[in-house]
Amino acid sequence: MIGAGLTGLSTALLLTRDGHRVTVLDRDPPAPAPGTAWESWHRPGVTQFRFAHIMLPRWHTLMRTELPGVLDRLAAAGGFAVNLAGLLPPEVRDGGRPDDDRFDTLTARRPVLEAVLAAGLTVRTGVAVAGLEVRDRHVTGVRLAGGDILTADLVVDCGGRRSALPAWLAAAGCGAPAEERDDAGFVYYGRHFRGPRPPVRGPLLQHHDSVSVLTLPADNDTWAVAFVASGHDRPLRALRDPDRWTAALDRYPLAAHWSAGTPLTGVDVMAGLADRWRSLVVGGEPVATGVVAVGDSACCTNPSLGRGAAIGLLHACTLRDLLRETEPAEADKLARRFAERTAAVIEPLYRATYWFDRHRIAEMEADAAGVTYRPDDQRWAVARALYVAALSDPEAARANLAISSVLATAPEVLAANGLAARVSAIAGGVRYPMPGPDRAGLLAALN
Ligand SMILES: Cc1cc2nc3c(=O)[nH]c(=O)nc-3n(C[C@H](O)[C@H](O)[C@H](O)COP(=O)(O)OP(=O)(O)OC[C@H]3O[C@@H](n4cnc5c(N)ncnc54)[C@H](O)[C@@H]3O)c2cc1C
Repeated sequence: MIGAGLTGLSTALLLTRDGHRVTVLDRDPPAPAPGTAWESWHRPGVTQFRFAHIMLPRWHTLMRTELPGVLDRLAAAGGFAVNLAGLLPPEVRDGGRPDDDRFDTLTARRPVLEAVLAAGLTVRTGVAVAGLEVRDRHVTGVRLAGGDILTADLVVDCGGRRSALPAWLAAAGCGAPAEERDDAGFVYYGRHFRGPRPPVRGPLLQHHDSVSVLTLPADNDTWAVAFVASGHDRPLRALRDPDRWTAALDRYPLAAHWSAGTPLTGVDVMAGLADRWRSLVVGGEPVATGVVAVGDSACCTNPSLGRGAAIGLLHACTLRDLLRETEPAEADKLARRFAERTAAVIEPLYRATYWFDRHRIAEMEADAAGVTYRPDDQRWAVARALYVAALSDPEAARANLAISSVLATAPEVLAANGLAARVSAIAGGVRYPMPGPDRAGLLAALN
């Protein structure tokens, strides 16, 4: 296993539980105890290590059924248990529904999460993989930076967004993986706080004129707040400054109180985040056998929807299930089947997220230019209508939560009971009705 990030650790735990002998390698330092992870763990291998993270209900559901011990340890480490339907305003919560427990989750700051996952495993840390050992396009192991070689029946690449897998395959004379890549163009301006946890007064992801605001509760009375904007939006780069960041947040009545805590960080900025889909089977032929890519190495998406851990865990379960019926020795079959199942289970989630990203970034950029965004794609109008209807209608709220929790796809929920027509009627063409400044008001706050 190359990489002990969120997906790498989860994959290793799943495979170990099934009786596989797993060696996990990571170039970063070892995990400290969860209680000191935020302060003491330096993790250059994961750029987003100190950024806002939420674990979505799909992640929680999978963890509960597949690795329940992780949830017990996370709760003991101060993880924040929350039901997302329970955060809806009373009139939308509507007394609760019998199946609202599907929106349960348990979440924490990223370092705490990873330290909890790592506590269940032995990870060989401070070990950088430098290449693959390959014979006749079959990967037989990895070469470490010091020159040592480790052999393996199967190499699982969980090297994340910046995985060097394509370069390693090329260096070994294998073909290039199929790859689609598009810089989503978003930039994140995020901070963490500690204090009495702020009450939730609006959606955790609030869309406004040219920005979105993320408010994410986390472990041990901490939380994160982030502005999401277009990387091309120069005036909003003022959000790098903590005072201006706070002045801007103050203009959003449903989120302003989320800065009333002790700041744990200044403003952390992250940009250049591509949506990328990678497949190791090209034109029906594996570019190499004996190696698979799982998690962000195979598929990474814009993080404002918070889907990476859920998709990664689902991908890890897909590999685990395949290995229950296919031996690594059946190398060609394993490579093809994993690609097929990844295309069936993971690709639709990737496509849906990518679709959202393209529209939302175009909408933000149109806002910044003072133009109304009106794409031909009718599905975008329906998606926006669902977001608006979810603010007041109990059924629309559950449908919206099911999509954002990665429990269902938009076509699945919108097909039910004529919901698409209903949400359009409820929304009545209104865009994002939550209180907050228009573009001029936001710029005034920043200046
Ligand atoms: C700003 C931001 C916010 C996000 N917010 C959320 C969120 O709210 N919810 C959510 O679910 N997801 C979120 N994500 C996505 C989530 O962070 C990723 O999906 C997740 O980290 C993927 O896990 P991974 O194990 O595949 O890769 P990573 O977590 O990136 O781990 C890769 C690991 O591989 C190691 N590695 C790489 N190359 C080598 C090598 N050559 N040798 C040895 N080790 C190596 C690295 O050190 C690292 O530990 C966010 C992402 C970003 C960028």
